[in-house]
Amino acid sequence: MDLSSKKALVTGSGRGIGKEIVLRLAQAGCDVAISDIDLESAKETAKEVEALGRRAIAVSGDVSKEDDVKAMFKDVVGEFSSLDILVNNAGITRDTLILRMKESDWDAVLNVNLKSAFLCCKEAVRPMMKAHSGKIVNIASVVGLMGNAGQANYSASKAGMIGLTKTLAKEFAARSVNVNAIAPGFIKTAMTDKLSDADKEKLSSQIPMQKLGSAKDVADSVLFLSSSLSDYITGQVLTVDGGLVM
Ligand code: NAP
Repeated sequence: MDLSSKKALVTGSGRGIGKEIVLRLAQAGCDVAISDIDLESAKETAKEVEALGRRAIAVSGDVSKEDDVKAMFKDVVGEFSSLDILVNNAGITRDTLILRMKESDWDAVLNVNLKSAFLCCKEAVRPMMKAHSGKIVNIASVVGLMGNAGQANYSASKAGMIGLTKTLAKEFAARSVNVNAIAPGFIKTAMTDKLSDADKEKLSSQIPMQKLGSAKDVADSVLFLSSSLSDYITGQVLTVDGGLVM
């Protein structure tokens, strides 16, 4: 897949799945903006992108805040002069059963996971509509499709992201802007490292492929949905989960 001359912005890409997505896009020839709330991690990832011979811009900001998002897009679109690919990846968890869930736990997760995607899509579609071309990939989760005890806030945010994806796909299809979501299952990252070995084994036993996925599995799917190989696909949710949801 050749993405040379394409420009991408990936949120929450200083580490974890976002970082893997950035490196995968850069390997395919894309210049990338690495956005993270932690500027130092964004700069570290930018160095790895530059080592691949691609242009990298490190930007910091809280993607749940409108002013930060506007400033971030101004910098990135100003530097790149265009934007072809947006990946809404930044996400957090504040897990607990609903009876113990505080309003602040609900608000934090909905703001970082869902409101951020609304704010970033709004900014990204402007240059994409002008160019009559663009790819938006929203990183949702299988729990947005099937729910998960202890994750009322997180599941609702990811289900909301899927609704946002389908709506924007309809609003922008005629302008050749594709909007799709990826729903990863259980992926080996800092987020799942918090689980005990016993919990990880229990999880793996529920997955038809009997193993957790890798960040690379998710990044490869993002690459597909960012490339011309998926030009006639929009409004879809691609599960990357070893067969967990089918
Ligand atoms: P992660 O390792 O925690 O990485 C998330 C990144 O987002 C971090 O770099 C984090 O910055 C950044 N971030 C957090 N809040 C932010 C904010 N307000 N503004 C900007 N950046 C922010 O998580 P991950 O496991 O790679 O997950 C990436 C995405 O995949 C998330 O949307 C997650 O919900 C989804 N997902 C993950 C799994 C899984 O099994 N891991 C499964 C399904 C879906 P800091 O480093 O400063 O915190």
